[in-house]
Amino acid sequence: MSASAPTPHTAYLGLGSNLGDSLATIGQAIHHLDQLPHSRVLACSNAYRSVPWGVSDQPDFVNAVVALRTGLDPLRLLDHTQALEKSLGRVPTRHWGERVIDVDILLYGQHLIGTPELTIPHLWLGQRAFVLLPLLEIAPDAHIPGHGSARDLWQKLRHKTPHKPQKIGKIMW
Ligand code: ADP
Ligand code: MG
Repeated sequence: MSASAPTPHTAYLGLGSNLGDSLATIGQAIHHLDQLPHSRVLACSNAYRSVPWGVSDQPDFVNAVVALRTGLDPLRLLDHTQALEKSLGRVPTRHWGERVIDVDILLYGQHLIGTPELTIPHLWLGQRAFVLLPLLEIAPDAHIPGHGSARDLWQKLRHKTPHKPQKIGKIMW
């Protein structure tokens, strides 16, 4: 008899890259996410170009957000996203520095998680226009547990965002 199917949740993942062919790498990452066990990509935002956040002496980033329906539990999903980063060529650099690919778990259903390895909702979600704008594009009614709606977060952040991320087009995956 097979084990019962894991309960699926919708997770939102933020992707970013500013080394190599960023648009192609983000496309490959999304393709791989869709192949993860018990998982499929439900929606994918356009790609956005954004100025670096936190550490400014590095190239602009390409960013996107995907919705992933997944039966993987949050820590297992993190294991997979970290393995995926490695397989696409990510090597350790300075904190918030340049990278071939970054995959962050922004939301996992309405779960609140605070462990040393995993904080959900993602710690900086409300401070990052390059996350909120693509998230709003695919999930305009997203609710961020403990913070309210993504729309409200963006209304607060937009006045403090001198360089709004620019939509640069669809991602092939
Ligand atoms: P950043 O994304 O902030 O640039 P990294 O990608 O290098 O940083 O991740 C650093 C650590 O952040 C990882 O080892 C991971 O355990 C931890 N982390 C905590 N919460 C999350 C989350 N929601 N998504 C992804 N990584 C997370
Ligand atoms: Mg990360």
